[in-house]
Amino acid sequence: MAELKLADYKTTVHNDWCPGCGDFGILNAIQMALSEMQIPRHKAVIFSGIGCSGKTPHFINVYGIHTLHGRVLPFAQGAKIANPDLEIIAVGGDGDGLGIGAGHFVGAGRKNVDIPYLIFNNEVYGLTKGQASPTLRLGEKTKSLVTPNTSNSVNPIALAFVSGFTFIARSYSYEVKHLKDTIKRAITHKGLAFIDVLQPCPTYDDIHTREWFQGKNKPDSEKAVPRIYKIEEAGYDGVIHDESEVNGKMSKILEFSSEWGDKIPIGIFYQNELVPSYHERIAENIKDYFAKPPSHQEISDIENKPAARIDKILDKLQIN
Ligand code: SF4
Repeated sequence: MAELKLADYKTTVHNDWCPGCGDFGILNAIQMALSEMQIPRHKAVIFSGIGCSGKTPHFINVYGIHTLHGRVLPFAQGAKIANPDLEIIAVGGDGDGLGIGAGHFVGAGRKNVDIPYLIFNNEVYGLTKGQASPTLRLGEKTKSLVTPNTSNSVNPIALAFVSGFTFIARSYSYEVKHLKDTIKRAITHKGLAFIDVLQPCPTYDDIHTREWFQGKNKPDSEKAVPRIYKIEEAGYDGVIHDESEVNGKMSKILEFSSEWGDKIPIGIFYQNELVPSYHERIAENIKDYFAKPPSHQEISDIENKPAARIDKILDKLQIN
């Protein structure tokens, strides 16, 4: 097959995200990761929830499913279980995934299905005019709120850890190369991977803006000192090589998860491939699961005669 270029993963669908939106950096990073990994377009599927981030599959030239509010993970997990040959990426907003979708977030952690899930974390419900989302902190008042936020916030990193996600990372939408490399690591991870992507919404969030992340408004600084720092450059390795390391790293993960303000860590906080994936757990109970997952099984016609195989149909739909 001919080498796929970055342009091959782009669509010509009109993009109506606001100018300067952090979503553009995330979109570029996903396309770059797919291109660098040369993932065939007929073998990749982007699933999304609702909101601004929900439009992401429209702009990536692979299969795409724009699902329902808070339901992206059940769709994405089901597809991966039925057809493990697919590269599935689930994306959604913080309101979508940590509000109405929070139960599915926790449930997905318990299963550890082999997919990456990116949350575009901008602290607001952008598509519906900037209401406070579950990641906006107590007392913060964005320009779209009448009064300061009266609810406490959810900590996505800590919630992912206690729910059982086996890859937990954070990146930033304007650090496109860092985000792209993190997505590639999440795709190759065996198990459920979560990336909390800090994504300024210039239209509705006037607190955590791009300039704020760049440190331009630090009152005591003569020159801007970026708030974001990379934990790998600070010498931290989140990979678990032996189960005995988990307890030691747990306190560090929780420390990273609550570090916010002048210093904000990004990077891979935790990666543990010693935990069995959901596919491995199924294979313990269903003989030949890996050799014959549902997509490799023949669908019967009305007379119970084999009629079709989903994976063969997909191969015929290859995009050239
Ligand atoms: Fe981006 Fe915010 Fe505009 Fe949505 S409302 S497209 S998140 S800038």
